Amino acid sequence: MTDPKITQDFGFATRAIHAGAAPDAATGARNTPIHHSTSYVFDDAEHAASLFNLQTFGFIYSRLTNPTVAVLEERIANLEGGRAACAAGSGHAAQFLVFFTLLEPGDHFVASRNLYGGSITQFGTSFKKLGWHCDFADPLDPETFRAAIKETSKAIFIESVSNPSSVIGDIDAIASIAQEAGIPLIVDNTMATPYLFNPIKYGADIVTHSTTKYLNGHGNSMGGVIVEAGKFDWAQNDKFPSMTSPDDAYHGLTFYETFGDFGFTMRARAVALRDFGPALSPTNAFMTLTGIETLPLRMDRHVANAEAVATWLEDHPAIAWVSYAGLRSSPSFKHKNKYFRQGCGSVFTFGVKGGFDAGIRLVEGCTLLSHLANVGDTRSLILHPASTTHRQLTEKQQIAAGAGPDVVRISVGIETVSDIIADLEQALSKT
Ligand SMILES: *Cc1c(COP(=O)(O)O)cnc(C)c1O
Repeated sequence: MTDPKITQDFGFATRAIHAGAAPDAATGARNTPIHHSTSYVFDDAEHAASLFNLQTFGFIYSRLTNPTVAVLEERIANLEGGRAACAAGSGHAAQFLVFFTLLEPGDHFVASRNLYGGSITQFGTSFKKLGWHCDFADPLDPETFRAAIKETSKAIFIESVSNPSSVIGDIDAIASIAQEAGIPLIVDNTMATPYLFNPIKYGADIVTHSTTKYLNGHGNSMGGVIVEAGKFDWAQNDKFPSMTSPDDAYHGLTFYETFGDFGFTMRARAVALRDFGPALSPTNAFMTLTGIETLPLRMDRHVANAEAVATWLEDHPAIAWVSYAGLRSSPSFKHKNKYFRQGCGSVFTFGVKGGFDAGIRLVEGCTLLSHLANVGDTRSLILHPASTTHRQLTEKQQIAAGAGPDVVRISVGIETVSDIIADLEQALSKT
């Protein structure tokens, strides 16, 4: 028996199970083995030299490449319709690899203001220490991205559907602005997953994921990945010297010239991952591969449950507002209909009448829903940002970040939906 080559012609559910994986050649093991080996024996000195020179593909040392991690990379590249992928130890590590590959000290990029809170801190505070500067723009008003682009701008970064407020920008328009400026569009597709949305089809040049969330889906492993579309012309201007000028550490090799449509991934791996080291563990890659096998089933249930919970909350007398792109009342609803035909995930925010204290009483009153700081688990999760993730901020900063005193974030899981609603109902009766 030989495994079919899993091309893009196969259906999504088939690719989610098979892409990148084949029975183990040595043992016949059908599941992908967890290769807990730091290093790999060379055939001879010449083989070793060609591996180190990036002339032959193969395994050297698991900080750079690992056979289990490689299956995950190939699977996610396939699901996103990308050319190549590089995994990292977390979503934030993946973002670091992307920006280290793109930016020089003094460079700038424009990011959506509706981002995961950790990304706002990474971009707005920690990156500054490396001389990388970021301005934030409004994804519902694409012209604000154009206005924020400067001579030193090297990328635009958005989330396809944002964590936590479920904002979907005008992705086509933002992609055109990036293209006109000659800079790549990077889309964090964590909240959508490739099942609900493929950013590359709408002009993204690089896709990032925190696989920690729905891709793993069971709240058991950190991870991140970058996927390269393979369409960006790095030589169209002089903005990307790391792609277009010779690299001394590799005997003058030029990544774009040598590797073409997967040059960005090669550079991210062979320089950023090599020198900073945030590699994904093979066990985490295995857990994530196992999670991805059921991604289509889980996402359908997440979406159905989230739509039911959001609609129920919007009608509840103790609730002031609900911010979910799947609701008619959302300013993102038209973009949801244009880009997210199969639903827009299960993370959103809502406001409790009674503000800060009522928010705390709600999260403390839940019994089935877990009060914790994660999203995209099989379990339903709930958080009151103003008293937890955003508590260091002033009230004004909290409101600007979409984490005002009354805001509650929910990640609707795949339990029986009437049980989720019943738990919210009893907890709301105590607010
Ligand atoms: C969680 C998250 C990240 C960061 O990923 P980690 O795996 O926690 O490092 C980035 N973007 C989004 C949208 C996230 O939800």
